[in-house]
Amino acid sequence: MKQRTTAATLGEPPDADTVIELRAVCRTFDAEPPVRALQDVDLTVRRGEHLSIVGPSGSGKSTLLNTLGLLDRPTSGSFWLDGVLTNVLGDLERAALRGSRIGFVFQSFHLLPYRTVEENVMLAEAYRAPRPGRGRGTRAERAREALARVGLGHRFGFLPGRLSGGERQRAAIARALMGDPALLLCDEPTGNLDSENTESVLALFDELQSQGMTLLVITHDDSVSRRATRRVRIRDGRLGQEST
Ligand code: ADP
Ligand code: MG
Repeated sequence: MKQRTTAATLGEPPDADTVIELRAVCRTFDAEPPVRALQDVDLTVRRGEHLSIVGPSGSGKSTLLNTLGLLDRPTSGSFWLDGVLTNVLGDLERAALRGSRIGFVFQSFHLLPYRTVEENVMLAEAYRAPRPGRGRGTRAERAREALARVGLGHRFGFLPGRLSGGERQRAAIARALMGDPALLLCDEPTGNLDSENTESVLALFDELQSQGMTLLVITHDDSVSRRATRRVRIRDGRLGQEST
């Protein structure tokens, strides 16, 4: 079901350097009483930014991430992703936009244990149509490029079980990079890692940011959120700026 939007609620579209633009986004779950999981959320994320979002359990983090990842729709308000107004899109268009613009990184790495690292990364493309013009080389070549980009050029043929936690998460990040996304959405990406492996993932985030990637990271860990260039706090479905 498409959400009804009017010119009055939309305003001017954001400029080309804006990867995420939320305006007055609300998400209310039908329950008795209704749950207002996101309330009047305004958020602009610029290309190349590394933004962290922190907040207690139940504050709306997953709802926000699902909205940004086009897995859920706002009840009201507008959402532009990489210049595209998402409100007016149907489910197939949303899926295509998600596949071409967004890489997801989760707390669990979701690597298949009996496939090599390279095969795991290649499998990213089993679920999405390749973008014309982007898919130079074979799938295996692109997987190796992505693995080299995350510092795992020497681990192509390994099974995930032989990697450290940090290396497994970096392999999962390589898989997320396969579609050449504009944005990485990360939900507690270091939640399963000790401090040394956390550092290796954070160093990779710095590196990807320096290459122009936009990162949005949900985390409970203060040392992780402090590495972002901007921190935002969420509480009871409302966003507030965090002083750094
Ligand atoms: P967080 O990820 O920060 O823990 P969530 O986004 O999962 O928070 O949840 C925010 C609020 O919305 C909570 O009160 C939660 O119970 C409620 N909620 C989340 N999903 C649903 C749903 N499908 N139906 C009803 N309430 C929900
Ligand atoms: Mg959650």
